[in-house]
Amino acid sequence: MSKKVVIVGAGVAGINAATKLVDERFDGQITIIDMGLDPYRRPAADVMRGFLGAGGWSDGKLTYHTSIGGQLSKYCGEEKAMELFDQVIDNFKRFHPKPEEVQCSNPIAEPDFIKPYFGLRLFPVWHVGTDYLHEIGKNWYDYLVDNGVEFHWETKVGDIDFDNQEVYCGLGDSRDLTFNYDTLIFGVGKSGIDFGKQLAEKYELPTEPKSVQIGVRFEAPQKHFQKLIDVSYDFKLYRKYDDKGISLRSFCTNNNAAYVAAEHTYGDISYNGHAKKDEAYRNDMTNFGILMEIKGIDKPFDWSRQAVEKLQHEGVGMFYSPSHRVPSKTSEGEYVETHVVNSMDPLWDAIGEYASYIHDFIDDMETVFPTLGKDWGIYMPEVKYLSPEPLVDYDTLALVDFNNVHFVGDALSARGITVSGAQGTYVAEWILQCMEDEKEYPDFHEHDIA
Ligand SMILES: Cc1cc2nc3c(=O)[nH]c(=O)nc-3n(C[C@H](O)[C@H](O)[C@H](O)COP(=O)(O)OP(=O)(O)OC[C@H]3O[C@@H](n4cnc5c(N)ncnc54)[C@H](O)[C@@H]3O)c2cc1C
Repeated sequence: MSKKVVIVGAGVAGINAATKLVDERFDGQITIIDMGLDPYRRPAADVMRGFLGAGGWSDGKLTYHTSIGGQLSKYCGEEKAMELFDQVIDNFKRFHPKPEEVQCSNPIAEPDFIKPYFGLRLFPVWHVGTDYLHEIGKNWYDYLVDNGVEFHWETKVGDIDFDNQEVYCGLGDSRDLTFNYDTLIFGVGKSGIDFGKQLAEKYELPTEPKSVQIGVRFEAPQKHFQKLIDVSYDFKLYRKYDDKGISLRSFCTNNNAAYVAAEHTYGDISYNGHAKKDEAYRNDMTNFGILMEIKGIDKPFDWSRQAVEKLQHEGVGMFYSPSHRVPSKTSEGEYVETHVVNSMDPLWDAIGEYASYIHDFIDDMETVFPTLGKDWGIYMPEVKYLSPEPLVDYDTLALVDFNNVHFVGDALSARGITVSGAQGTYVAEWILQCMEDEKEYPDFHEHDIA
């Protein structure tokens, strides 16, 4: 019986899982372990760790479409996926100090002026606002603590024994702290991606085939894109080269008070972006990723890692602007950590001919947005490491070889807040269902998945 649920990672997925269990009066102990800090102590510089994980300092854009933000409907179908999204969005609203300010933008028509060059994927987005995430975090955290959830902060999980159902924490190889579990929810996000890989190798977990997702973070004054932003705040321009297994899309657009953020993954720097809601932060900039998906690359994870490494110079990534724009400042007033280069050549060196697709994408944006000209800059690289994705049972998100170990969020196949949270909720529903079945049929073995 699932009396002890241990959640590794207090990120979006783990917190939504715990919330569902608490809301439904789960009759057992919930323990959450995280290497970061609670929302009262978490510093702004800690972008990826602590309560709500990367979602805690994100742009707070909750996408509301099953083709955005990673995989969910492949596990549970479209209808269920949307219902799970609703639960996640409701959680953000319910702990929001001003829920009435959570707004949904829902563009409906694809404008003619982009049609010859790009497709535009239109989907609703709920805007929570980065500035409110901190307050949401505190209210949410208090709710969970008040309902008996046990948190362990500044505690890094170093190893997990799936056979003996034990989680080990501590520095280096030491195992200072051990937790036993009946059910484990593994939601370490991108900051824990190497840990997930370590476990995948240790247990030789079967994985799903994945593609490469790499590109640049593009930045320009917002005025050049305003015509499109008026139609869709988080616009998704895309194009596909089906015969070559390549597609490109603009990714995670930030406007008004838009900042580029350096992400530290595997000791390298790549780039992402976020936006502030508070007018005091307004800089009238727009930034978005130009992400290229490449199918059919052998060992896509290793390939991406090598490309990212080639785009590092003295411990930082690279910035190029044809108009000699300087790199922007972060919302904390520091220059974005980057090395300025005078051409896109490093991108060609890193990913070869694939760079031409990004080049063409930017060229065509110059045509479609005539005032843009050369008034732009790119931070190299932006990357989404999609591998390894362990193979899971689609009904439970449990590892096929360990049916009480559930992978969720970016550690599985998510790439955004709504999908990550929804995967956590989906697993919690499974745990609750098992407990119900146990009550109804005492001989039922909850993890007896065929
Ligand atoms: C700057 C930025 C902006 C973003 N903006 C958006 C946005 O606007 N909309 C959107 O949908 N998505 C956005 N994202 C992505 C989104 O935040 C993630 O997809 C989401 O948070 C993933 O949730 P998760 O629970 O899987 O992991 P996370 O939220 O990243 O949480 C993982 C947690 O695990 C902990 N952890 C990792 N390893 C260990 C370990 N070994 N031991 C203990 N704890 C560990 C970490 O401390 C962290 O708290 C953004 C990401 C970044 C970095």
